Amino acid sequence: MPRTDATGKPRDPYEVLGVGRDASGQQIKKAFRQLARELHPDVNAHDPDAEEKFKEAAEAYEILSDDERRATYDRYGHEGLRSGGYAPNFDGFGSIGDLFDAFFGGGGGFGARSGPMPGGDVAVAVEIDLVEAAHGAKLEVSYEAVDRCEHCNGNGAEPGTPINTCERCGGSGQLQAATRTPFGQMVRTVVCDVCEGEGRVPEQPCRECRGRGRRAATRGIEVEVPAGIANGQRIRLAGRGHAGEVGAPAGDLYVLVRVQEDKRFVREGDDLITALDVPAPLAALGGTLEVPTLEDSESLELPAGTQPGEVLTLRGEGMPALGRARRGNLRVVVNVVVPRRLSDEQRDLLERLSGTLTEDNLRSDESIFAKLRRALGSQAA
Ligand SMILES: [Zn+2]
Ligand SMILES: [Zn+2]
Repeated sequence: MPRTDATGKPRDPYEVLGVGRDASGQQIKKAFRQLARELHPDVNAHDPDAEEKFKEAAEAYEILSDDERRATYDRYGHEGLRSGGYAPNFDGFGSIGDLFDAFFGGGGGFGARSGPMPGGDVAVAVEIDLVEAAHGAKLEVSYEAVDRCEHCNGNGAEPGTPINTCERCGGSGQLQAATRTPFGQMVRTVVCDVCEGEGRVPEQPCRECRGRGRRAATRGIEVEVPAGIANGQRIRLAGRGHAGEVGAPAGDLYVLVRVQEDKRFVREGDDLITALDVPAPLAALGGTLEVPTLEDSESLELPAGTQPGEVLTLRGEGMPALGRARRGNLRVVVNVVVPRRLSDEQRDLLERLSGTLTEDNLRSDESIFAKLRRALGSQAA
């Protein structure tokens, strides 16, 4: 789906490429190259929109690089292009991945890949709770990955049978292929589709792996999650990904850690925040309260006259800082609860109390702004 502006129309291609209306063909090409480079997945793996943005840029380039289309767009906008029968078509480009490869020489791109292919990375997600995140955890993780076939020891041939030079590529493992791109035809080197880059083909493929030399298997591994890890962080285990071809290293395993939301605490960096219900009379009198902590509970001194939304801090009861001994704090937001559904006796007591209150009991040194800030701030927390 093409990206659109707020009104649902495709964006202006000049705006997409960041060029002026009078930009020359050379400037347009340069702007597109620049954008394409920024949006390359190797550079921009963290941007989930990179591919969409790239498509948008390619579409804009396709319009502005063609004099006739550009003139139509200048006069009639996107509407004009559509009524003229033009629809952005990426088929001519091959896949977006091919286009990236053609520009930047990704896997199997410009420069001929030589030697056996390393294994790819594998990603797996695990979920832990907040207590495990605080203490660290050892988890059994199982995942699918490609292993080297033991039967043929990875060479793809049934043991004891010969391996021949690939006829399609003459043993180089590579073929020349032409790809159409916005800059004209580009010849690139691709991996031979018969021998998959090996240059050699077994006469009798291994019966266990059908000649691939590798096969998918379920693996188990114990993963150590460090104390203090935050939701969305990844742990990299080098060499635990897919097996590479014979002589090449394996890929890595990335364990994505999700930390479940906790019913009691909200996490803010290394601090934890909790809300504590305190009956209004107790807030006035003060006293010692038990506050739940991650591990257990701690007693907390509530000063007499504590106001709604005041924050009390238990030092060192928060989350550990990743890789350090220090722990954050537990911030306790006091939620003063005004009693409801009073009995006759309670009503009587409160009426008597209410009658005795003086201005001094109710005086606060806070300004209206400070009060509001506290009330709103505690809500936001
Ligand atoms: Zn095999
Ligand atoms: Zn071949």
